[in-house]
Amino acid sequence: MSSNRTFTMIKPDAVNAGNIGNILQMINEAGFKIVAMKYTRLSKQDAQAFYAVHSARPFFGELVEFMISGTIVAAILEKDNAVADFRTLIGATNPAEAAEGTIRKAYASSIGENAVHGSDSDENAAIEGAFHFAGREIY
Ligand code: ATP
Ligand code: MG
Repeated sequence: MSSNRTFTMIKPDAVNAGNIGNILQMINEAGFKIVAMKYTRLSKQDAQAFYAVHSARPFFGELVEFMISGTIVAAILEKDNAVADFRTLIGATNPAEAAEGTIRKAYASSIGENAVHGSDSDENAAIEGAFHFAGREIY
């Protein structure tokens, strides 16, 4: 995957609140092209593997239980400077600190239930995209 791509998930809180459409609209309006997308649900094993980097953190169990609590939308997004620009669009991890106009400011309710995931590096974007999508599912 080239460095103009990032990976996102619309998390269970935002799906349950009916915000899939609103969030996809913000993503489109910010200039990202969707090159892969699916509606799915993570198994416990999936969530533990996806967030393995946080396995030693005190919130790990809570994070895994939250991410498997409902369905998600997973997507690969394309844009120049995708990783950094998407982190700007989603806003700070804690919605109380998220800037106006960001997805988390609009739709996240807490640091744990924060509406969206965004990759934090080109390397992780490639790993995370490949975790969810086969090559033939990416357009
Ligand atoms: P994400 O990786 O989901 O895009 P992020 O990069 O902004 O979020 P990370 O530090 O990677 O934040 O944390 C991963 C996720 O773990 C957060 O999005 C949040 O759901 C959860 N999390 C992080 N810190 C806390 C915390 N202090 N308490 C509860 N949950 C947390
Ligand atoms: Mg992160």
